[in-house]
Amino acid sequence: MSRPPETYVCVDCGGVAHLITILPADAEIEPGYPLVYRCADCMERFDIIWEPEDYT
Ligand SMILES: [Zn+2]
Repeated sequence: MSRPPETYVCVDCGGVAHLITILPADAEIEPGYPLVYRCADCMERFDIIWEPEDYT
């Protein structure tokens, strides 16, 4: 099962961006699923399209 990471390194400041999209529980996340991360340090928002191939 491939699921997006809960956290992600902020490309702007190197801080920790947290996934704020609520994912369906115990379900595979399909490629193309829209994800939103927000950085805890600089508060930047990142909209990402889930593409599991990029993370393997
Ligand atoms: Zn940041």
